[in-house]
Amino acid sequence: MKAQPPASHFINGAYVEDTSGTLIDVIYPATGEVIAQVHAATPAVVDQALASAKAAQGEWAAMSGTERGRVLRRAADIIRARNRDLSVLETLDTGKPLQETLVADATSGADALEYFGGLAGALTGEHIPLGGGDFVYTVREPLGVCVGIGAWNYPTQIACWKASPALACGNAMVFKPSETTPLGALKVAEILHEAGLPAGIFNVVQGMGEVGASLVTDPRVAKVSLTGSVPTGQKVYAAAAAEMKHVTMELGGKSPMIVFDDANIEDAVGGAILGNFYSSGQVCSNGTRVFVQKGIKEAFLSRLKERVEAAVIGDPLDEATNFGPMVSEGQLGIVQRYIDKGVEEGARLVTGGARLNRDGFYIQPTVFADVTDDMVIAREEIFGPVMSVLDFDDEAEAIARANDTPYGLAGGVFTADLTRGHRVVGALQAGSCWINTYNLAPVEAPFGGVKMSGVGRENSKAAIEHYSQLKSVYVAMGPVDAPF
Ligand code: NDP
Repeated sequence: MKAQPPASHFINGAYVEDTSGTLIDVIYPATGEVIAQVHAATPAVVDQALASAKAAQGEWAAMSGTERGRVLRRAADIIRARNRDLSVLETLDTGKPLQETLVADATSGADALEYFGGLAGALTGEHIPLGGGDFVYTVREPLGVCVGIGAWNYPTQIACWKASPALACGNAMVFKPSETTPLGALKVAEILHEAGLPAGIFNVVQGMGEVGASLVTDPRVAKVSLTGSVPTGQKVYAAAAAEMKHVTMELGGKSPMIVFDDANIEDAVGGAILGNFYSSGQVCSNGTRVFVQKGIKEAFLSRLKERVEAAVIGDPLDEATNFGPMVSEGQLGIVQRYIDKGVEEGARLVTGGARLNRDGFYIQPTVFADVTDDMVIAREEIFGPVMSVLDFDDEAEAIARANDTPYGLAGGVFTADLTRGHRVVGALQAGSCWINTYNLAPVEAPFGGVKMSGVGRENSKAAIEHYSQLKSVYVAMGPVDAPF
């Protein structure tokens, strides 16, 4: 199985190679096989990418929004037409089942390109009337060169979620994918150029953290958008602050899902599965602390166990498979250590817990019950298929415990009482909430966290605020009234 791209980087409208950069093996998580190799960007490559973005941005910004939007919408059409090929590549890059990548990765990237492509021509300032005929008008300007840095769980989607609003607003972007999954973003760059994007407006450079760090500190960069862990977010945010750069931080979480005893059990179990095991649990907004009201605890757990044990674990390229491997041996090791910790701390292992005896980085979907708030598995982000089920008695207690975390990315509630549903999400300290479902993130809805889970929002009209700045212009219509 091979997925070798033509070269490691995509700069100024073309593939670029510099073999003096550190060699990075791209590993297919289902077999452990090396399917491609790329080189990390050298300082010269980083410089080339930033220089071409800087040189091209002004002309792109000078085009009308409708023209810019047309390019993005064309790219969306190309992505949809090639969805199967792109999904296979995403599966090879990440190990996620094709059943998932066919509907959740390139397609959600296309949604973002289409949505922001449509919005580009509608970006305007406003007119603010003042006394005496004076007025102020505002101009929505691009920021300049933006840097996007991605995590490995949604390589194609993350590239598109960052590129779409950035480009719609007239910015240029240099994007660095995670070294674990370098392939998808190159395809996004290729397709954007095929759709008519001018050279230099979207560039991809490969590399580890230090390449990201060199991008963040470069004075040509006006904004950094990171999807990653909280510790990386803290470093990047601090580095960006030195030059007062704009940031969007999409970071980790330990989100709560609260299931009341009047909830439809089948839906609540379905929500818990969606919110814990999709992408083998490697989703930032996962509801990994499932608070279940005592009255339905046993019924919930027994149905959950039944459904989790019916997961089809296997070859991700087989469309019948709905649960694939972890992205890497390293991530598998982290998850195994958390599972051991859960057992050691006295949580009850309901199902799963073991590595599969086959090639690749497979671990069973795992459910712990009788988890308490102080256990490590209930406090730290695992970023793998490990669900903690905790019991609760009443609403106030559930809310207080749900909020007792430094994170605040997401939260969900399952109840038949809609008044309670709204009341509870109203009290949750979280950026993205769901009532009677979980983890749906359409491009129309703002997405992002509060507390340590990040700053800024992706998707929706809100993202425009994070990729543009307002200039306000005061216009006097009468004589200047000076004191002397
Ligand atoms: P990391 O934080 O390890 O890495 C994120 C990206 O930042 C990678 O491309 C990484 O490069 C790069 N990086 C690392 N150090 C630096 C630095 N000092 N300066 C600039 N860039 C740097 O996250 P993971 O890739 O392990 O992804 C998992 C995390 O991402 C989880 O915590 C998850 O919750 C979060 N996440 C958040 C989402 C959200 O929208 N809120 C969505 C998806 C994931 P490299 O890894 O190549 O070294």
